Amino acid sequence: MPTIANNLKKIHAQIHHAKKIYHRAENAVQLIAVSKTKPTTAIVSAYHAGQRHFGENYVQEALNKQVELSAFDITWHFIGAIQSNKTKVLAAHFDWVHCVENFKIAERLNAQRPDFLAALNVCIQVNISDETSKSGVKLEELANLITQISTLPNLKLRGVMAIPAPQTDFVAQREPYQKLVEYVKNLKNGQLDTFSFGMSDDLEAAIAEGSTLVRIGTALFGQRI
Ligand SMILES: *Cc1c(COP(=O)(O)O)cnc(C)c1O
Repeated sequence: MPTIANNLKKIHAQIHHAKKIYHRAENAVQLIAVSKTKPTTAIVSAYHAGQRHFGENYVQEALNKQVELSAFDITWHFIGAIQSNKTKVLAAHFDWVHCVENFKIAERLNAQRPDFLAALNVCIQVNISDETSKSGVKLEELANLITQISTLPNLKLRGVMAIPAPQTDFVAQREPYQKLVEYVKNLKNGQLDTFSFGMSDDLEAAIAEGSTLVRIGTALFGQRI
């Protein structure tokens, strides 16, 4: 079996296992294949093995791939940092944007979403590791931003995304996710259905804590150079 198809099978088995031991529902966790820096041939391999959701971090690279793969039925997720001069392209060419971290960016995406497309799915990026270098809103700012973004008609606020500081210990991996999920579940505003977290190295911890969208690159496509 080709490597990517084989890796995909292994990841699905891991997801299945984690869902089972942490009592998650059968369809609770979707997989986003993170294809940044990888060629379109890799995307096509995963596609032929059944993968439909793909995540990209760099706007121009993603657009080139979208043109090349326009015949494929792919749901495109933008999971990179958002520069305000790129919002127009993001609003026009993606189904999901994951790293919204302020209202100004949300307003631009809302204004620039073409009328003929359905509302753009967005997640708010939350900083759950308290590192000054990491992007995302602080937990204390989250409720307010949810209220603001919920007023924008061309955006569909789906939930939160997070990239915690890397940890190797399983218990330590779970802790920031647990904190975030608990906080979100206690919020009164918004109809959120998405927790976008979990990468190759903390997939199980993320699913244990309630992830609904895991974003997997390395385990599927191999190391990025
Ligand atoms: C690159 C990236 C991933 C994938 O990470 P892996 O460790 O390769 O699985 C997931 N999420 C975001 C936001 C990324 O930038």
